[in-house]
Amino acid sequence: MTDPATKRRHAKLLVLDLDETLIHARARGEAELPWPPQRQVAHFRVYLRPGVREFMNAALDRFVAVGVWTSATTDYATAMLERIVDRRRLRFIYCRERCTQRRDVDLDETYWIKDIRKLDGFGFDKHQILVVDDKPRGLERSYGNLVRIPPFEGDPEDRTLARLGPYLDQLGAVEDVRAVEKRGWWLRDDEDDV
Ligand SMILES: [Mg+2]
Repeated sequence: MTDPATKRRHAKLLVLDLDETLIHARARGEAELPWPPQRQVAHFRVYLRPGVREFMNAALDRFVAVGVWTSATTDYATAMLERIVDRRRLRFIYCRERCTQRRDVDLDETYWIKDIRKLDGFGFDKHQILVVDDKPRGLERSYGNLVRIPPFEGDPEDRTLARLGPYLDQLGAVEDVRAVEKRGWWLRDDEDDV
């Protein structure tokens, strides 16, 4: 992403998931990973996705509004975000109580939905909202707004965020983000257009 002083901000709302998108955390008792964590937060070993601070700062410079939406609890999200961003710059932090629980009867499991109608109050049309998330099911009501990201599970060689920044810049410039085919964006060559 380029210097905000030399380029206007994208008039879009960028919404970021937390777990496996920006960080990976393991509670006490969960299996050890081959890599050491960067942080210890309460009883969590926390792995920061490589480049996450730079990514957050660039996103905040390039989009008029950036929020975080996670199905985790507020205490957890607050503690984790403290490690990666100046929280005062975020437009909002939405946690579990802003998610809707759904049940998949075939798989006999529950999951969380992020219903983007809950973002209506921020003054963006649906074609101006981008949601970065590793779990597409959570956006099943608004796939067109989803920028899926491969889940991060602690790998220090992960370079996804370095590619996501420029890709979001491309999406920030289009009229209607829902009209763009975004699936598998991380598999494309760098020179490919949106
Ligand atoms: Mg996630």
